[in-house]
Amino acid sequence: MSSDKEPFSLYIHIPYCISKCPYCDFNVHVVSKIPEMEYGETLLRELDSYAQSEHWHRRNLKTIYFGGGTPSTFEPVSIGTILDKAEFLFPFEKDIEITLEANPGTDDSKNFPGYRSCGVNRISIGAQSFQPRLLSFLGRLHTADETREALKIIHQAGFENFNLDLIYASPGQSLADLKADLDEALGFNPPHLSAYNLTIEEGTPFHREFRAGRIRPLPEEEEISMAELIEETLSREGLERYEISNYAKPGYQSRHNLNYWQGGDYLGIGAGAHSYKRSQDHVGGCRWHNEKNPGRYMERINQEGKALVEMEQSDLTKAASEFMFLGLRMIQGISVDEFSCRFGKTPDAFYPQIGDWLEEGLMELRDARLCLTRRGLLVANSIFVNFV
Ligand code: SF4
Repeated sequence: MSSDKEPFSLYIHIPYCISKCPYCDFNVHVVSKIPEMEYGETLLRELDSYAQSEHWHRRNLKTIYFGGGTPSTFEPVSIGTILDKAEFLFPFEKDIEITLEANPGTDDSKNFPGYRSCGVNRISIGAQSFQPRLLSFLGRLHTADETREALKIIHQAGFENFNLDLIYASPGQSLADLKADLDEALGFNPPHLSAYNLTIEEGTPFHREFRAGRIRPLPEEEEISMAELIEETLSREGLERYEISNYAKPGYQSRHNLNYWQGGDYLGIGAGAHSYKRSQDHVGGCRWHNEKNPGRYMERINQEGKALVEMEQSDLTKAASEFMFLGLRMIQGISVDEFSCRFGKTPDAFYPQIGDWLEEGLMELRDARLCLTRRGLLVANSIFVNFV
């Protein structure tokens, strides 16, 4: 109805991978033949169905993110068809950011020039490590040489904006291994780098190994030294930390992810994709997600146009807690005035523990913003559980 409503972000989930990495707990499916055509057509139908609803109708798009799974298993023509449809239904902002997650295998990187031609302007590549021993431990199918080649192709294809993912704190990884990974990654001059510490998630093969005593996480002090090395090394190279695990050169922060952390509207399509829209009074909001199984997702979209399995309205308390734990992920933290205006009380009146965290040096007030200190960032998860 009104194209002048605030622009929103679109997430598109491609749930297929060639094999499943033992640490991964995403909604991923390994199938003998990826139903690229059928799944792609289903995504178009789901987009159509949302385009008719009043909340999303003709609203401008500011970012699109193809995540997975492995979106680079899809041919550029399929990605291009989805982008054409999205632009037909939702006018693109002039500076739209369009990201596609890719694995560095040869079959994937040959598609990079095609993605660039069909409108993708940011690639996020899952390098994870350049050490063969660590790649093999992480169950990655690609080699370090394939990552090097993929990064060359990213440059040649004209992607001025790209992200490189690294995983650190793998058992057996040393500070020297991490330094070598950082040095090699920086050699490709990435404008954005994400460094995630390996977490052992329930239900994964790594969790079973951990319970059987065959995997031992690194001691906490070593993990802390690694986090410090990452921040020091990257900031020296002009990559500023702007979120717990994310670093960027000025102007290259992921606008798609910032929209999540800042509580903006996003629509997720595809199997298991999550969506969020703020309520009209801008206090609470509504979250929902799709059927996770790709087969059932396709069946439901084809029959009903939507595949929602759960919808949750957030009341004031829930909305305040989301505001805190999403906003505090960012180094700039949350605006005290914005919180007070939206929720009718200052953050410390809402959450008395904030006084203790300020005293303990885990939080600080900077320019009327409440944020985690460096020490607070190291124990962020144990602070966030207090908001849930
Ligand atoms: S490639 Fe990525 S999404 Fe696929 S299984 Fe591995 S970590 Fe998970």
